[in-house]
Amino acid sequence: MIHSVKWVLAFLFFTGCAKPPFDGNSAFQYLEKQCAIGPRAPNSPGHKQCLEFLTDELKKSCDRVDLQHFTYTDKHDTNVKLLGTNIIASINLQPKSKKRVLLTAHWDTRPWADKDPDSANRARPILGANDGASGVAVLLEIAKIVRANPIDIGVDLILFDLEDYGEHLGDLYPDSLNPYCIGSEYFAKNNKNYFPLYAINLDMIGDKNLDLPVERNSYNGARAVVNNIWDKAKKLEKPAFRKAVELEIMDDHVPLLRIGIPAVNIIDFTYPDQNNGYHHTLADTPDKCSPNSLQQVGDVLVEVLYSE
Ligand SMILES: [Zn+2]
Repeated sequence: MIHSVKWVLAFLFFTGCAKPPFDGNSAFQYLEKQCAIGPRAPNSPGHKQCLEFLTDELKKSCDRVDLQHFTYTDKHDTNVKLLGTNIIASINLQPKSKKRVLLTAHWDTRPWADKDPDSANRARPILGANDGASGVAVLLEIAKIVRANPIDIGVDLILFDLEDYGEHLGDLYPDSLNPYCIGSEYFAKNNKNYFPLYAINLDMIGDKNLDLPVERNSYNGARAVVNNIWDKAKKLEKPAFRKAVELEIMDDHVPLLRIGIPAVNIIDFTYPDQNNGYHHTLADTPDKCSPNSLQQVGDVLVEVLYSE
């Protein structure tokens, strides 16, 4: 008996398997809790309530939680001032851990279901089970794991606000249109001396039919980090991760890349598939997402963090 325990311990040590487990069901409950609040669009009651919920949750597992407030004036109506808040949380503060990794996701949801097939729905706010809640859910669960299982590096989380207020796509930035990624742009513009080893952004990773090719800006700007993530996913046999470079997406990793932080976006472009779209529609609800999808992403993140 004693001998077999020793062998198991030796096996775990040599194979590096002793990484803490990620609980996809627990992460999914975080997704459901955010959606139970309702839409979390800027200046709405749900937005305010969700900010309190996320701050309270992060305070349970992080050494420090800061709120970075900012305002944004709508391009079409200057009377509309949006109150934005980036939630910045840290585990293992400096100088204890100078080596740091940043994990990010957006917590706001889109104020309009502008891609809904029913035109009557297009002015209504989306619930954002996948587009908003999924990435945040995985990060809340990761924070709990890192708190309970000591790690040698520092781990920072930023939940960006006002990601999904944009109107334009691609590289076109007419000044008359509201941009995407307002919160992450604000963070990047005001960042003076925080430069983690790298950053990983999660967006739309809850889709039941999860497909995670490599996003092009990530590949061009942070290739070593891309290789690390997708190679670990392959080792763990996570079928959603597909090492093929596909679409270029403007997301919260882009402002980080611009200030020199190697940043990768893990995102599912097709929700649920090439021919059907719940993206930016009222159909972006928890039943279209699954604990298994959060599990795959969480397992890979734990592997990446605990291999540093
Ligand atoms: Zn969106």
